[in-house]
Amino acid sequence: MKIKNILSTNKVTVSLEVFPPKAWQNLDETMDVIKEMTALAPSFMSVTCRAGSTIDYTVDVASAIEKAGIPALAHLTCYSADKAFTDYTLSRLRDENIENVLALRGDLPSDGSPVKTDFAHANDLMAYIKKSNGDFCIGGACYPDSHPESPSYNSDIDFLKKKEEDGADFLTTQMFFDNNLYYAFRYRMLKANIKIPVVAGIMPVTNARQVIRSAELSGTLLPPRFRAIADRFGDDPAAMKQAGIAFATEQIIDLIANGTSHIHIYTMNKPEIARAIMTNLSDIISK
Ligand code: FAD
Repeated sequence: MKIKNILSTNKVTVSLEVFPPKAWQNLDETMDVIKEMTALAPSFMSVTCRAGSTIDYTVDVASAIEKAGIPALAHLTCYSADKAFTDYTLSRLRDENIENVLALRGDLPSDGSPVKTDFAHANDLMAYIKKSNGDFCIGGACYPDSHPESPSYNSDIDFLKKKEEDGADFLTTQMFFDNNLYYAFRYRMLKANIKIPVVAGIMPVTNARQVIRSAELSGTLLPPRFRAIADRFGDDPAAMKQAGIAFATEQIIDLIANGTSHIHIYTMNKPEIARAIMTNLSDIISK
């Protein structure tokens, strides 16, 4: 099923992100995670990809999701795929009845290994997919506090508009911890007349240090309330997990109460976290 159809109503949706294994030895472990996550009946599930040779695992994992009856969204990056590899991946996805691709630029590999250069930016990849494989539903990334490489909010929004023009059917946000950033971002989108639906990406923090590190890398702002929780519970994994689930649940309730219908949970492959949040929201998301 195409995600743009799932997002076409104001009904609340909750989707989950998982990542594929780094090596085939871990594929079974990931498939166990997928089994538990699909049993939660999310609206759809996305599967990340890494630059390098593991893109096939993205398709394998997405295929398992689709076979479990949950619409799958496979990530594909400019840095991991040239034109030939994009065609190969899309034909594999089509063979597995997967209709949704999240087209991204990607981040440079930390080990300095070379990347593909056929597509410079996500919108180039989107335009190519649209032209050569027009039947895919295409998603893109967006950044409530702007992308760390962007010189200004305006430039970020201009390139977001380009994503819409080049074929994006919907957008998913980078994680954010302050909903006011998201509301301000939605105003900027409105002003630029960007009309495609947005899925708000929420990261339940269970490992404070890891999130602080990745927030620093991605330029995500951490509100004082979040910092206080991380400082107080960061060294106590069980307490941090409980606080992280409560923080994410509250954040999602505020978003839904203020008119955001589509929520994406960055699960870090932890079914128990996804389950806890979805249970907390059970009467809210069934409406
Ligand atoms: P782009 O849209 O190309 O933007 C990158 C920068 O260039 C921005 O500053 C933008 O303003 C600017 N820009 C955009 N278009 C143009 C243009 N035409 N000309 C000049 N400048 C331009 N990374 C992975 O490696 N694998 C994943 O699976 C993955 N999943 C993600 C999922 C989500 C929901 C998000 C938000 C991010 C994900 N990322 C993933 C990270 C992402 O690849 C990085 O944030 C990357 O730095 C930017 O990707 P993008 O698609 O937004 O790039």
